[in-house]
Amino acid sequence: MQHTIPTGETGPCGEKMAEAVAACVHCGFCLPTCPTYQQLGEEMDSPRGRIFLMKEVLEGGLPVDAAAPYIDRCLGCLSCATACPSGVAYGELITSYRTRAENVRRRTFSQKLLRKLILKTLPYPGRFHLAATGGRLVRPIARLLPRQLATMLALIPGSFPRKEPLPECMPAKGKRRGRVALLAGCAQQVLAPQINVATLRVLAENGIEVVVPRDQGCCGALAAHTGAGKEARAAAKHNINVFPRDVDAIITNAAGCGSGLHEYPLWLAGEPEQEAAGHFAARTVDICQYLHDVGFRPPPPLTTPLPVAYHDACHLAHAQGVRSAPRALLESIGNVQLCELADAEICCGSAGSYSIEQPEIALQLGERKARAIIATGAQMVVTGNIGCLMQIESHLKRLSHPIPILHTIQLIDRAYRAEG
Ligand code: SF4
Ligand code: SF4
Repeated sequence: MQHTIPTGETGPCGEKMAEAVAACVHCGFCLPTCPTYQQLGEEMDSPRGRIFLMKEVLEGGLPVDAAAPYIDRCLGCLSCATACPSGVAYGELITSYRTRAENVRRRTFSQKLLRKLILKTLPYPGRFHLAATGGRLVRPIARLLPRQLATMLALIPGSFPRKEPLPECMPAKGKRRGRVALLAGCAQQVLAPQINVATLRVLAENGIEVVVPRDQGCCGALAAHTGAGKEARAAAKHNINVFPRDVDAIITNAAGCGSGLHEYPLWLAGEPEQEAAGHFAARTVDICQYLHDVGFRPPPPLTTPLPVAYHDACHLAHAQGVRSAPRALLESIGNVQLCELADAEICCGSAGSYSIEQPEIALQLGERKARAIIATGAQMVVTGNIGCLMQIESHLKRLSHPIPILHTIQLIDRAYRAEG
């Protein structure tokens, strides 16, 4: 796309944004793979339309508020980046654009309040637990509150699992083959702490020692993807400082966090920590990919056949290119029968805080994903992201098909434990 973006005036990511715009050749191959274009049928709700809108704003020809509704409806799922034959770096463009636009756009009072609530609670496990407990108390008057706040309350689970304190170091079982550090995540520690426990056990089972840095914080992805650049940069700098350098890899087990860590060099463009961010990102790897690459010891077969639907989290498949490793690990467990989903590349509608901010689209996508799962006849669902897990679980229940859903690593852990 031809442009006249003044890269010298558009911040440290100006060049990257301009490169992404320039790479787009208007071919439209991305359109059929975009969930919002599929749902709404509007060019401006497609990747090509959004690239055009961002270009216009960056050139100064369109007010940022005129483009905002279309940009806000983008899930950041990156299905378009997978489909694009020209290699448009859509993720880099929209993340950088959102950070830039946030400084100048106008928001209503309730939008500001919602953003504050999200950014001040979700990334902090203690605060999130407290806020969710309080939120349950005001749920009976939810219909009197602004729509998005009411949606937020409706998403709070009825109960939380008990806390699972993690050791600072989990030794390898048998001969040590490697040493890694684990990013424990924020909301995941409250909503499904057993995922981290399973991750530690499976790594230990494969001869990998795991350190869990005590002072680690939120990855910053939620902030970055909602344009809160300052908070995202602070989170990145903090983690770069507190994670040890003498480990083989930094392991993530939440696709959104993993994708966020890979974006640290982008968030810290022009900052003194940019080079360190590059090293940090290069060592970050999803748990399934790591196990696959290091040489996974397959667990013994399950006692009975189990049809399992694997859901590709967008931030694992599209953002990190991790598709075959989780499938290979699952297929190595005897009696696991993998079921592929129709339209597997389409987002489930979770997408960080999207289901709070854009509840209607999130609802349609969640229901569509749940129906695709039900159609496979699977007796279990597995995925690699806590957000997808919660979204799919709630929609399966809404459709009266409460199929059990686990993180991929939890199914692997169960198979090992059955062995013991
Ligand atoms: S990131 Fe997802 S929702 Fe946004 S334009 Fe690309 S395909 Fe569409
Ligand atoms: S597929 Fe790529 S090049 Fe084609 S319109 Fe979409 S973003 Fe542009």
